[in-house]
Amino acid sequence: MILVVDDQPENIFSLKKLLESKKFEVDTAASGEEALRKVLKNDYALIILDVQMPGIDGFEVAETLAGYSKTREVPVIFLSAVNTEKKFITRGYASGGIDYITKPVDPDIFLLRVTTFHRLYEQTLALSETQRVLEKEIEIRKKAQRELKDKVEDLNTTLESLPQIAFRADIYGRITFVNRRWFQYSTCAGIFPQTHPDDICMEEVWAEAIKNGEPLEREVRIREISSGSYHYHLLRIIPIKNELDIKSWVGTFTDIDDQKQEELKKDEFLSIASHELKTPLTSIKAYIQLLERIESKQPESVTTSYISRAHDQVCKLENLIGDLLDVSKIENGKLKMNMQPFSMEQLLASVIETISSTNSHSNIHIERKGPAITTEITGDVIRIEQVLINFFTNAIKYAPGSDKIILHTAVKNDRLYIAVQDFGIGMPSDKKDRVFAKFYRVEESAMEFQGLGIGLYICAEIIRQHQGDFGVESSVGQGSTFYFTLPFS
Ligand code: ADP
Repeated sequence: MILVVDDQPENIFSLKKLLESKKFEVDTAASGEEALRKVLKNDYALIILDVQMPGIDGFEVAETLAGYSKTREVPVIFLSAVNTEKKFITRGYASGGIDYITKPVDPDIFLLRVTTFHRLYEQTLALSETQRVLEKEIEIRKKAQRELKDKVEDLNTTLESLPQIAFRADIYGRITFVNRRWFQYSTCAGIFPQTHPDDICMEEVWAEAIKNGEPLEREVRIREISSGSYHYHLLRIIPIKNELDIKSWVGTFTDIDDQKQEELKKDEFLSIASHELKTPLTSIKAYIQLLERIESKQPESVTTSYISRAHDQVCKLENLIGDLLDVSKIENGKLKMNMQPFSMEQLLASVIETISSTNSHSNIHIERKGPAITTEITGDVIRIEQVLINFFTNAIKYAPGSDKIILHTAVKNDRLYIAVQDFGIGMPSDKKDRVFAKFYRVEESAMEFQGLGIGLYICAEIIRQHQGDFGVESSVGQGSTFYFTLPFS
């Protein structure tokens, strides 16, 4: 809107008409005082000011406007018929005017000037708005940067206070922070501690984790600088995400050396103990078999039943020791498979027969679902039998009071799928992945059922060596389905 200030109503009238003919919005003031009142209330894009006015004249109005922050930027055009001399024109500019037009005025030229100044003002306004927005944006960014810096400092302080070796890295895997403990194992902040030659190559697994954007968890031996010896650590690296994008990585090495040494000692003890137990046990079994043979020639007596029970118990002990030996073989990478083609259908029939005869007292009924397997499988038939017997034995052990087991066979994704389903106690879903770990037993059932927690661990290793998959579907009170898959050779 344009404000026209003139004490002559006829001047105001004609200027208003002229400006409105070009679609300008016009407001008017009949004196300097009224003009000053109006500028404080309204926003004007241009002020056209008569110089000669009773009371406050045009120059004074312009000087006052220049003093108000609200009106400082509003362009002022002086319009005068009387004060056309140079000194007035000079004063007009000095008091803040941007143009000084003397009458008579050519309407076209006048309108051109007004339009130009009006546009200039609008551009100035737009520019200052842009500047204001930019300043706000800069302020927001500065604040965000300050907050980010604070967060990073907080995180670094937290990492510094950890009892582990801790580090942070950018999205490209470049290390950006390490805590003091790092230097017990590395001489340089940018270089990972040296790993044992038999363990993972740190750079390789790190590159892999960055490529996949996945967290990493590995046991690794790293070399302590002062002693030169390797210590077991659990390495964990996790991506820090902002919604879906990875922003950085945080990693820790937790010292698990004591625990690991204990575990190694325990494994070593188990290995020695099971080896040492095996020899006398084999002799005991041989003597019992001799006794059985002698007894079979005698009429049946109480001794016959005692010998038979002793034989059963020795067989159980033999299985236990066999499992313990398998565990130490797995630990030493010595559990070898004797791969031969065999008929899975025959193996399944034989396993069902074995399970039914060894549990004849318990009315177990094994139902078969799925097609007969006609294609031969290449694998270690004795080890696959061990897996099936283990699944069935567990299906009986962990389902007291239930007499049904379903053996499922199927072909899924070009693989043979075999599953043993029971209707027993089941297990909580968070335990499903852990039951295949060494010595793991679900605590809810551990007290009630005897066991060592190594059967499934051995099964898992056997299936892994056959390039198969394994797992369990289960829910508490509903039963469990343990399955494995094997590739067709
Ligand atoms: P063990 O039976 O000697 O404890 P396993 O390795 O065979 O050892 O099994 C590990 C654990 O998995 C068991 O202790 C038990 O808690 C759970 N488990 C195994 N089979 C079943 C099953 N069919 N139903 C419910 N829980 C099972």
